[in-house]
Amino acid sequence: MAEIGGATVIARSLKQQGVDYMFGVVGFPVIGVAMAAQKEGIHYYGFRNEQSASYAAGAVGYLTGRPGACLTVCGPGMVHGIAGLANAWSNCWPMLLLGGTHDTYQNNMGAFQETPQVEAARPFVKYAARPDSIQRIPYYMEQAVRTSIYGRPGAVYLDLPNDINEGSADESSIALPPRSPEPPRSLADPAAVKRAIEVLRKAEKPLVIVGKGAAYAHAENEVRQFVESTQLPFLPSPMGKGVVPDDHELAVSPARSHALQNADVVLLLGARLNWIMHFGLPPRFRPDVKIIQLDIAAEEIGTNVPNEVALVGDAAAVVGQLNDELDREPFEYDADSDWWGELKAKVEENRVMVDAMLNDESTPMGYYRVLREIRDQVPRDAIIVSEGANTMDIGRTVLPNFQARSRLDAGTYGTMGVGMGFAIAAAAVHPDRKVVAVEGDSAFGFSGMEVETALRYKLPITFVIINNNGIGGGTAELTDPPLPSFYTIGARYDQVIEAFGGRGWCVQSPEELSKALREALADPLPNIVNVMIDPKAGRKPQKFNWLTR
Ligand code: ADP
Ligand code: MG
Repeated sequence: MAEIGGATVIARSLKQQGVDYMFGVVGFPVIGVAMAAQKEGIHYYGFRNEQSASYAAGAVGYLTGRPGACLTVCGPGMVHGIAGLANAWSNCWPMLLLGGTHDTYQNNMGAFQETPQVEAARPFVKYAARPDSIQRIPYYMEQAVRTSIYGRPGAVYLDLPNDINEGSADESSIALPPRSPEPPRSLADPAAVKRAIEVLRKAEKPLVIVGKGAAYAHAENEVRQFVESTQLPFLPSPMGKGVVPDDHELAVSPARSHALQNADVVLLLGARLNWIMHFGLPPRFRPDVKIIQLDIAAEEIGTNVPNEVALVGDAAAVVGQLNDELDREPFEYDADSDWWGELKAKVEENRVMVDAMLNDESTPMGYYRVLREIRDQVPRDAIIVSEGANTMDIGRTVLPNFQARSRLDAGTYGTMGVGMGFAIAAAAVHPDRKVVAVEGDSAFGFSGMEVETALRYKLPITFVIINNNGIGGGTAELTDPPLPSFYTIGARYDQVIEAFGGRGWCVQSPEELSKALREALADPLPNIVNVMIDPKAGRKPQKFNWLTR
């Protein structure tokens, strides 16, 4: 009778379900699980804090369509991992949090780090459970993974009690269910598809919004075909960038406010009308705007704005249906319309305003000049991670994406501190591509120690830190009491990575930045370019900020 360890059953079940990446911090009672995972061929990345590891797991879910796993010890470790669970929940990304926990027989005895973990995970997950035996582990794993990717994707949680991890069972008593197939791609009601095209045909000022649901669905071919055959203007959401390349002639991102404010019909492809989209409400949208809404989650339809046409289904499949409908009865929006005229004028107006800042060669630099240098030097297929207040907001407009799922940022949850975990996840999933993490200095500080993790695994990530000495910017003068938003003036974040044997650069002028960035991007190891900018630098004036009321 061959015995098999519980940790091996856990690892084998994960592998069987297509969970290929695991991020975590080991200790009691999960060290055996991490070792077994490595043995079974799961890529394991040992982090310095579970929070970053949990963000990495969510990013893997978004990038691959199969959940990344985050492995934590019990109690405090699991609680740190809730950060990523909440982030994945908010972004609708699959991820699996695995929280080690005490021996079952110690329940309610005041066990080491005893915590109501299943309950703590519950509000953020589609599924939370505590397996009851080694034999049933494969069953729970299949159910957790399938739940995370079917329907609207999301986070799931499993407790891993020590007696299961450390126990063993008769190998013949273990049955692994087959890998849960890729999610079924559901189609929209054909009548709604017809109606959607009719409404678009009658629109005077139509606009397509491409969200990260379309990116997640791998709908890039369908969406490109759709906008090109209809010649409709489109606007990507922050992470919808790249589904259609940002330099496409139909992109109207530089005219975002005008487009949102004046469109009479909006086709929403996998994006929510939440705070990022100003809730779809006036004054940012027309009060009579008609929304044609495509979403995999029926319950999302009609949120904040009554809905004109509901396209419930998978973005790739449903945009495919729209394309089929257009094949039967083609429709091309008029290139000479007033609407296109307005949008093009706005795009040009914006270009002129921004060009001056992009080309400002003075020292200290502002955000635009720094970002322009990054834009000019990063490879076209780079994955861009972006966080920080101005760094991210301005970065979104300056740094283009040319491929779907090539931008990771603070997302729906607006989470700062995701950058390290996201960059490591992106490099793990795409070892052949450069990852460039453009970080505000404060955003970097949340988990800057993870540069040690990146270096240990030799991941080709360039961290560019746009350093304005703290949160938001303002003056650099020390006051009494010190401003709560200011950190150490002139902090040498570049030296953080040098402590572990990586290379760092600290630059002030455009020439120094240009040279350092070239060297950094050619370096196969992770490195840091710390860019000291004008602490008073800011954005161009905004008509509507996201958080203005
Ligand atoms: P963004 O931040 O880009 O606006 P959101 O996260 O707000 O995007 O919205 C993405 C939407 O996409 C969610 O409502 C989610 O239900 C939906 N979604 C997820 N997967 C798919 C899919 N395969 N097809 C269509 N919609 C999807
Ligand atoms: Mg800052």
